[in-house]
Amino acid sequence: MPELPEVESIARQFRQGFAEVPSLIGMHIHHAQVNWQRSLVTPSKDEFSKRINQQEILSIYRRGKFLAFQLSEDTLLFHLRMSGDLVIRPEYDQELRHVRLELALDQGYWLYFVDPRKFGRVWLVSQPEQVFAHLGPEPFDPFLTPEVFFHSLHKVKRQIKPLLLDQSFMAGLGNIYTDEALYRAGIHPLKLSNQLTLEQTERLLNAIREVLKEGIEANGASIDWVYRGGEFQNHFQVYQRDGEMCARCGTIIARIRVGQRSTHFCPSCQKLNE
Ligand SMILES: [Zn+2]
Repeated sequence: MPELPEVESIARQFRQGFAEVPSLIGMHIHHAQVNWQRSLVTPSKDEFSKRINQQEILSIYRRGKFLAFQLSEDTLLFHLRMSGDLVIRPEYDQELRHVRLELALDQGYWLYFVDPRKFGRVWLVSQPEQVFAHLGPEPFDPFLTPEVFFHSLHKVKRQIKPLLLDQSFMAGLGNIYTDEALYRAGIHPLKLSNQLTLEQTERLLNAIREVLKEGIEANGASIDWVYRGGEFQNHFQVYQRDGEMCARCGTIIARIRVGQRSTHFCPSCQKLNE
């Protein structure tokens, strides 16, 4: 599932243009067709096609794992979930499969929301903040100091891994970057949030920001997902490396289930009672 760096990379590509594709900023939407009604949260299929018509793309940004196209009247939001992707083509592509939504843009370009597993969701809203209302702070928010983070961790008493995955606690982290950040910070994934010291909290916040920044610089990770071009998967230190040796200490990297999620960590570098 795409996480903050992957969604950020898509937003940046569409904003700046990439390969042969120009920036989508300033383009207009001339036609919209919803092929799979349940991908669309709001409004209705008919209203969507009517309302989005002729709107201009003013900016493209990310909030948490949401991808947002700010249009002249409304905001078009995507959550890619398990298998969603946005594909751009210089002309209509009849061969493309699993297309849930298609948008005709300027210069003959088509933007497709492709989603084989159908978990992805689309919104067209006048107030995106309503959709974002449940989200916690962005990891790079300067307001999020170690002291503020420490206070948030101590207000709840939850295992740190599921807590970091909870988008209402912090927005943007998923399984990959959470495992990598906890490893870097030397914190066991099952440690209770209110048992972290201020020093551990600061280490964790720095580690989260570091792995996300490196992920963005690598254009995200291309793994169990259709996203092309990212290469952060080559820099994983624990994620899906169970059975291999920890680069720091040589201990075999372990995998456990936390909640419903596979969790990878080094039993020596990340001790529960430290
Ligand atoms: Zn280790």
